[in-house]
Amino acid sequence: MQLKTYHRSEHPIDHSNVDQHALSTVMTLQQAGHTAYLVGGSVRDLLLGLHPKDFDISTSAKPEEIKKIFHRQCLLIGRRFRLAHIRFGTKIFEVSTFRAGDPTSSSLIVHDNRWGSEEEDVMRRDFTINALFYDPSKELILDYVNGVEDIKKGLLKTIGDPETRFRQDPVRMIRLLKFQARFGFRCDDNALVAMKRCRHDILKSAQARILEEILKMLESTKAAPFFRLLTDFGFVELLFPCFHHFFADPTNDIASRYLQAVDEMTSRLNHPKLDRASLLAAIVFPILEEELFLLSQDRQSSTSMKEIIHLAETLLHGISTSSFVHFPKRLLANVFLIIVNQFRMTPLQGPPRLHARFHSQEDFLLSLDLLRLRALVNPRLGPICDSWEAKRP
Ligand code: ATP
Ligand code: MG
Repeated sequence: MQLKTYHRSEHPIDHSNVDQHALSTVMTLQQAGHTAYLVGGSVRDLLLGLHPKDFDISTSAKPEEIKKIFHRQCLLIGRRFRLAHIRFGTKIFEVSTFRAGDPTSSSLIVHDNRWGSEEEDVMRRDFTINALFYDPSKELILDYVNGVEDIKKGLLKTIGDPETRFRQDPVRMIRLLKFQARFGFRCDDNALVAMKRCRHDILKSAQARILEEILKMLESTKAAPFFRLLTDFGFVELLFPCFHHFFADPTNDIASRYLQAVDEMTSRLNHPKLDRASLLAAIVFPILEEELFLLSQDRQSSTSMKEIIHLAETLLHGISTSSFVHFPKRLLANVFLIIVNQFRMTPLQGPPRLHARFHSQEDFLLSLDLLRLRALVNPRLGPICDSWEAKRP
């Protein structure tokens, strides 16, 4: 592919939208005689007029050379994917050395530490929209893959043959759906066909990477469309069999209503970030409610707290043993407390009480977040939720 360059007058990226420390990191590398660019998600987001979450940097400098330039500001990390972290106070920038991949090999990538040219570094990236370099000192965009045009068209395309690229690293399929949900982009037809053929390969990927992408999407304000796509492409069935019937049921949209509530809450600008346990609880709670409903249908007597606890334990045990990802114990323990506490805050029978006991303040606050979400789904819970909210320390 031919290199296209876009000068300042031909692209909308304004220096003032680039993090000053990211700029200085690139400049320092360039002044030391290396090639260095901003790359990946940040360039894509700047072109889309969005605020990048992070600024990744790509350079010709090898990790040890980066270390020599930044000394104690630099920490070299990673085995599978070796890179440098440059620290400015609490802020960290990832600097990775240009790598060469083999874009034609279908074997699973285990290590990715073969250094290469800047062009090779582009070719080992996942999608054309993610493979642009930005040189801040010349204010130039370097585009080897027609990524600028694809961003303008709103088109998601893999670099190289999609089936080969998905077999090499199946997490790319999840990333494709993530970008589709996040930007509303259209997916290239060849990639759609390849994804259907390769979907079972997802079970060969590193579970920790999948868990991270999923949890990040729950926080992204686009959780509802993302889970819709995950379900439609058969990934929920493979990764989370316990959730599948719930997400795939055309007669019941409660799961997506909860996720829409999550998105509404996370997109409120002044809302503090929701804890991952509350986010996961937003998926598990309606399943528990449905099971309780089925249980109560078969009999006359009311459901006791002891039974609720037992059902919640069984449900979480089922989720943790059947899911492809390994949920950390602490995360599941918090989900358990949050969902069970709902029945203390809003009991199944009798008038609402406002004196339930909690293990800790954190436990109460996490449970309150789920109650807020429930009130978005079911506005009748608004008043009781406000009463509990008034107890917020
Ligand atoms: P986000 O906004 O979610 O961070 P991102 O595109 O920046 O999206 P990162 O995980 O931060 O995603 O990765 C940074 C860059 O590294 C990507 O833009 C892409 O160029 C490259 N990359 C990430 N994951 C892969 C992968 N699985 N295969 C090939 N390239 C990848
Ligand atoms: Mg990123």
